[in-house]
Order: sequence, then structure tokens, then C-alpha cells
Amino acid sequence: MNHKSANLAIISNNTFEATKAVNLDNYDISSALQTTLEFNELIAIFSSKIAHKIPHSAFIYTNTEFALEVKSGVFTRHSCNYALKVEQQQLGELKLMRNHRFSDGDLQLLETLLCCLIYPLKNATLFHQALKMAYTDPLTQTHNRASFNDTIKREMSLATRNVKNLSLIFFDIDHFKTINDTYGHDCGDITLALGAKWIKESLRDSDIIFRYGGEEFVILLSDTDANGAGLLAERIRTSIENHTIAYGMETIKITASLGVSTLRANDTIESFILRADKAMYAAKNKGRNQVVLAK
Ligand code: GH3
Ligand code: MG
Ligand code: MG
Repeated sequence: MNHKSANLAIISNNTFEATKAVNLDNYDISSALQTTLEFNELIAIFSSKIAHKIPHSAFIYTNTEFALEVKSGVFTRHSCNYALKVEQQQLGELKLMRNHRFSDGDLQLLETLLCCLIYPLKNATLFHQALKMAYTDPLTQTHNRASFNDTIKREMSLATRNVKNLSLIFFDIDHFKTINDTYGHDCGDITLALGAKWIKESLRDSDIIFRYGGEEFVILLSDTDANGAGLLAERIRTSIENHTIAYGMETIKITASLGVSTLRANDTIESFILRADKAMYAAKNKGRNQVVLAK
């Protein structure tokens, strides 16, 4: 046997021993929890796999980092609550409920079973953190273009299937190049980050903002008709106009031009975006700092 294969043999042996040592009793739970990286699925699997050992009528899982609340079942009087954490990493909170109290023995058993959940939850957290980073523009903390390409497809098919409105606002800062040229690129960056923050402050939870290009943002508005989208675009325009940027001893004002389109039955992704883009250019041509609804 050469040295390399000897090493391999040791590794596989360690791995096998490690699996046995973790918890052979709960191997069924552990292996089921390895099938997914989605929080809601992990919690549902955990709940169903422990049900015969720790009967419960409902669970609630919350994770503030991902603005997540997963709940299922009938909410009853008695509950036990665990803040889950491993290696300084917060993994959310799990609450189980039922009609009669949880005994000390139940809680001890539950804590052993929770050991099976911790590492799958940590893996899910790392996966979703990586996904979030891959889909976030670092400067403005908005969703990036890759995220837009995925989301618009999904939102258009959802709107079509459910016969709901979907609107899109194309937002472009006016004379942005002048800011860079006058105050420098750093000031331009700060302006972009603040502009995105002010847009976000005008949005509802269901609205999604994307950085489409340099100083261009797109906002997707589900379940919103042309009238509602126009009102929101006007609210964003006013908010941008009313804010002031303090940069060193300078105060800077910016404005933006916005175009709005609403999904039509025969739209493609390109035609839906292009109508909003054209409306935005019409706003520029009409003198900037205004909203134009696509015809
Ligand atoms: P208009 O009113 O017609 O939109 O004029 P504008 O100057 O805003 O548009 P233009 O397309 O001429 O210029 C956009 C500028 O945005 C040019 C580019 O250097 C700058 N830009 C793009 N991305 C960034 C960025 O990440 N940071 C900074 N500071 N500037 C950027
Ligand atoms: Mg511009
Ligand atoms: Mg532009």
C-alpha cells in the first residue's frame, strides 16, 4: 500500500467513527436533516422526527438575520423556547408548544435532540449568508443585477399565474456625473448609497429594489397597478428632492428621473423593462426631476 492510499484509509475510518460517535440513536434525524439547506424544511423535518419522543402541537422558528418566521400547528398553552447558537453564531429561536407542560426529562431529551439540528442549521446559515452576498450590491446594500434577472422572471410568472398586477419603476439620478466631477468619486459613492437608502425608506416590505447599473435602480412592485406605482414613484422623487447630502463643508442636493411600466399580457422581460426605461428617458427629456408613466 502506498502512502497516499494509507492516508485515505485513515480518513474514511475517522469519518465512520465520527458518525457513530455523534449520536447513533438519532441517526435517522441527523440523516433526514442533511437533505436540505432550507430553514423551513429543516425545522419541519426536526419537528416531525422528534414528534414521537417529544409530542408537541406546534412549532415557531424565528431567525432575525434572515427576517424569517416559520410556524406550523395548533398554538397551545405550554411552551419551551430555545435560542440556538454555535461557535458565536446565532441560529435563531425555536419554540415548541403543547397542552401539558414539558417535564425536566422532556427538556433534557429535547436538548440532546437539538444537537442534531444545530449543525444543519449552521450549514443553512452559511449557505444563505453566501447567497445573500452573491445577490447584494456591496455599495448600496440593494439587490444586484444577478438577483434582478432571477427575480423578474419569478415575479412575472407569479403575476401572470395569479392574474395580479406587477409594476416596475426605472430610477436614474440626474446629472450624476457632475457630482463625481465636482466632488470626487468617493462623494459619488456616498450619494449612491444615500439615494438607495432614501428609496428604501419609501418602499413597502413587498417592494424590491435592485441596483441595475451605475446610478440606475429598478424597483419591482408586486400586486401594484399603474396608478399605485405612479404614486410611489412620485413619493420617491419627492423624498430624493427633499434630502440634502452633507459632504465635508459642502451641502449637495440631487434629483432623479423615474419611468413606470405595468405588466401587460403579451410582455416579455425585455419589453416590460424597455417601456419603463423609455418612460425614464422621456422624464429626462421633459426636464428631469419628474415621473413619467409608460403609455
Ligand atoms: P443624466 O441626468 O442624463 O442621467 O446624466 P448622468 O450624469 O447622471 O448620467 P451619465 O450616464 O452621463 O453618468 C453616469 C455616471 O455614473 C458616470 C459614471 O462614472 C458614474 N458611476 C457609475 N457607477 C458608479 C459608482 O459606483 N460610483 C461612482 N461614484 N460613480 C459611478
Ligand atoms: Mg443619470
Ligand atoms: Mg444612467
